[in-house]
Amino acid sequence: MNPLRYAHVTDAPTAFATALPEPNSQYIAGGTNVIDLMKDDVERPTLLIDINGLPWRSIEATAAGVRIGALATMADTADEPAVKAGFPVVSQALLLSASAQLRNMATMGGNILQRTRCEYFRDASRACNKRSPGRGCSAIGGVNRIHAVIGGSDDCICTHPSDLSVALLTVDAIVHARGPLGARTIPFEHFNVLPGSTPNIETVLQRGELVEAIELPASTHARNSTYLKVRDRASYEFALVSVAAALDIDGGTIRTARVALGGIAPKPWRAYDVEAALVGKPANEATYASAAHAVTAGMRGYGYNDFKIPLAERSVMRALQTVGGAA
Ligand code: SF4
Repeated sequence: MNPLRYAHVTDAPTAFATALPEPNSQYIAGGTNVIDLMKDDVERPTLLIDINGLPWRSIEATAAGVRIGALATMADTADEPAVKAGFPVVSQALLLSASAQLRNMATMGGNILQRTRCEYFRDASRACNKRSPGRGCSAIGGVNRIHAVIGGSDDCICTHPSDLSVALLTVDAIVHARGPLGARTIPFEHFNVLPGSTPNIETVLQRGELVEAIELPASTHARNSTYLKVRDRASYEFALVSVAAALDIDGGTIRTARVALGGIAPKPWRAYDVEAALVGKPANEATYASAAHAVTAGMRGYGYNDFKIPLAERSVMRALQTVGGAA
């Protein structure tokens, strides 16, 4: 049994003051990821700091967009009328995540910080550089069906599990973070980092720093957006491949494009090549097919996951047909 202490905080300065002296402390909100990892003996915090008392639960909608407190639940965010109307990709991604029970507990901040579902990461008896740096990666050369086909390294080829994070890339979301050194904003496309030689580092957050809110700026492309999730079963399953797509189409021409994928990379993957192949082109099947093919550039399979490369291309095509109205 591992000794474990618990603290409940109601303001951010107290949260930081509690966390900083304890290197092995862990913030907890909905607990849907942290408790799982503790049960699997993957994470062994000595102090759990419950942040549910922080005043960061509200969802505020204005003409400029929506600001979602980090402690808002996935369920409340998915049902928020301003999110459904202005950012359908976000609402859809949330509703295609987890189960109804989990969506009622899990928070928006926790969702974007959730950790990989790599089986080897969650099996404390197997070598994993993310869990124990320098131990090796059991997935490279192992059963890697759910693993990355782009963005991985010789040290880690895991995939990022969040559907929400993929959607956030296509609506130009901004993370509001607050830490011991103050508040700052982080464009969501810079929030997650690739594993490189340090797969244990997953975001740009600093020690003690918290996600306070997620801002969704209103835009024409965000209003015309969709989320496609391909998985082994129809509910309560992570993506093999997912695609978030947002297009601003004016007079039959694509003015702005955002395309991102999940299930294929260690971080939510923005497909810049696909976007470049769409902007300024007519919104038709030929454009979508050419753009979808661009997604495969730089991808490589590791054996069991080779199928993800053609699946990614077909999924991008289908998402573009849906959001572009050419299906
Ligand atoms: Fe660990 Fe990453 Fe390798 Fe999975 S892919 S075993 S998370 S290092």
